[in-house]
Amino acid sequence: MQKFRQKKSLGQHFLKDKNIVQKIVELAEIESDDKVWEIGPGKGILTEELLKQECNLTCFEIDKGLNSILLAQFGDEMKLINEDILQINWKKYLSNDKIKIVANLPYQITSPFLFKITENSNNFSKVVIMIQKEVAQRISAKPNTKEYGKLTLKMNFYFNVKYGFSVKPEVFYPKPKVDSAVIILTPRKDKPILHDEDFFWKVVKVSFGNRRKMLRRNLRELLSKEQIERLSERKIIELTRRAETLNESEFIKLYKLICKLKKK
Ligand code: SAM
Repeated sequence: MQKFRQKKSLGQHFLKDKNIVQKIVELAEIESDDKVWEIGPGKGILTEELLKQECNLTCFEIDKGLNSILLAQFGDEMKLINEDILQINWKKYLSNDKIKIVANLPYQITSPFLFKITENSNNFSKVVIMIQKEVAQRISAKPNTKEYGKLTLKMNFYFNVKYGFSVKPEVFYPKPKVDSAVIILTPRKDKPILHDEDFFWKVVKVSFGNRRKMLRRNLRELLSKEQIERLSERKIIELTRRAETLNESEFIKLYKLICKLKKK
């Protein structure tokens, strides 16, 4: 068997604590025959625990150098796909059955991966992932905190978000530089329906353009002075507020008001 060389560039921080692995799998509440995707099985510590649940497991691992280790342990008990999870055509692998994702994610793909799951949120019944603690805190932040922002709104728009638990670097080898955390995402049944979601996200993005500035200032990127005055006179959302003070329903109000002003 060829000797395996660990690649930091692929975020290869392997878990060594089986208690953490068990806690992650428990949070996924897997039933036999559930379809589960593991992203980045690495040397298989989480894979082994997932297979104990008798699920139908597909693993996406970019590093072919791990194949011999994984195949020697699991053979054809799981389906191993040697692809970059960010590059695959997700539609090809998704089906009518809802899928659960369970993963100790490589940190460098966190943002694009989160974006991918929001695009396909209806295809998943649950997503349990370990990510950087700082990102987990941003996702589960409340308004009026420094962690609250576009990422919070985006993830909470598509999913019910739960902060699972924090994880110290000592449970990995090699040790990462930062703390980690496990979060649980469940697709929202009451996801708001907007006629132009892209424009809604544009309103959010522009509103957070400069966090220290009032909405009145940031919205200049989207509206003329006259339009800002008209919006201000309505007094539905005070434009002297900063974006970080607005919750989701207030952002939706702001978006609808702007749509009317722009006759969208
Ligand atoms: N699940 C293992 C564990 O907990 O010990 C390994 C987790 S390690 C943090 C991340 C794994 O994801 C590595 O095995 C790495 O090779 C793999 N990986 C990195 N980038 C990937 C990508 N874009 N698509 C699929 N797998 C990737």
